[in-house]
Amino acid sequence: MIKLLVINHKFHYEMEKLVRIFMPDVKIQVVYEECDDFNLYTSVTDEIKVIINFEDFNKTLTAPLCDDNEMQMGRMVYSLMGEYTGFYPKWGVLTGVRPSKLLINTEKQMGREKTKEYFKKDLLVTDEKFRIAREVADWEEKIISTSKPGSFSLYISIPFCPSRCSYCSFVSHSVENDKAKNLLPQYVELLSKELEITGKIAKDIGVSLESIYIGGGTPTTLSAEQLKIVISSIENNFDLKSCREFTVEAGRPDTITEEKLSVIKNSPVDRISINPQTFNDSVLQAVGRRHTADDTIRIFRLAREMGFDNINMDLIAGLPTDTVEGFKYSLDTAINLDPENITVHTLAVKRASGIGQNSPKIAVQNANIASQMLSYAYEKLYEKYHPYYMYRQSKSAGSLENVGWAKPDTECIYNIFMMEECHTILSCGGGAVTKLKAPNGDEIERIFNFKYPFEYISGFRELIERKKRITWFYNTYK
Ligand code: SF4
Repeated sequence: MIKLLVINHKFHYEMEKLVRIFMPDVKIQVVYEECDDFNLYTSVTDEIKVIINFEDFNKTLTAPLCDDNEMQMGRMVYSLMGEYTGFYPKWGVLTGVRPSKLLINTEKQMGREKTKEYFKKDLLVTDEKFRIAREVADWEEKIISTSKPGSFSLYISIPFCPSRCSYCSFVSHSVENDKAKNLLPQYVELLSKELEITGKIAKDIGVSLESIYIGGGTPTTLSAEQLKIVISSIENNFDLKSCREFTVEAGRPDTITEEKLSVIKNSPVDRISINPQTFNDSVLQAVGRRHTADDTIRIFRLAREMGFDNINMDLIAGLPTDTVEGFKYSLDTAINLDPENITVHTLAVKRASGIGQNSPKIAVQNANIASQMLSYAYEKLYEKYHPYYMYRQSKSAGSLENVGWAKPDTECIYNIFMMEECHTILSCGGGAVTKLKAPNGDEIERIFNFKYPFEYISGFRELIERKKRITWFYNTYK
């Protein structure tokens, strides 16, 4: 546990967030009264003072008061924590989840050149991260500008997987046991009903469908027949004429068969995801995935032969037991397969997952490894792809980012619409969250579906009741 002493300032929340970049799993106790057994002392009096005090490390920094004492204190904490851990996060003191959004907003106030300087000198963001944030900002703006007024996207959640990966923190049921497997038929039936009701609501409020995303979990945990039912429900209840993109995140290769791909191919779906995560069998085994790298390659080639021409592949940097060399091999293999999109995630270790970063030392080690992996990935990916969407997750190694890369004109528009809250996302299924965006304003409201499949089934009536709020929202903020 770290004792953070806060004297005469209100920045404790920001300082806590900053410390968590270096030590994601450490508990932080904030105290406001002088004591001797602190680990981090922060004060604003006639000067700014930061002291770091661990058994083997003790150092003090002071600085004069300035226009932005919070930022100055952040840089001092960054510097001392960096010295203590030997790790200097590449996003500097920036802790927010959407750096490109901050970049756009700052540019609106300061202009491009000054923003660049501010990011690099004040926020201590490295060239590598600034470049990516800048490019993502351009793509985000470009894609958002193509969204028509009065549009929405549809998200369908299939919270089932063939087995549970050790790093997973999602609400996803492994169908390894019969109890979860037996829920599937009823789940699909109710999901179809929810789609029917949601389709009626969409018609009533007069919105037009722009993109669809079936995600999970692993949607191809469903049988071919069940997949057909879900996709047909969408086709039967929504007007797809205005729909520009329809993704099925097929996900894990061990669930994808020719029969399922054929159902998807014979439908309006035009983008799929086949997610290797890594092309190293020992790492796949270590994280509890029941397929091999060859399975991924075989399924990818099959999908190509069947005519799928927009495929995404997800990779994860920082998986347990993976090495920088191992990741390089995975990245090179993915690039050689030549998918249209590659999404590079950084492993985020959340409490709900089966693994943890037991000590600050391990966290810093993991962060350094993940950081090297990303640097290699970016160098290679820039040759053929461009970064178009990005977000940071709490508890990811080194507070590093997840980035979607695409070949020109293959960017996933749903990812941007969802991330940037530029229009309403109507969502169906267990754990799905509907995000309402006022057609002519900034109001945002969320409607939560029940998380777990069994709750989704037992609470279905209430969930449908909650959906009435969509019509209310559109009548109120039209
Ligand atoms: S495939 Fe994804 S959602 Fe399913 S268990 Fe693994 S990490 Fe979780």
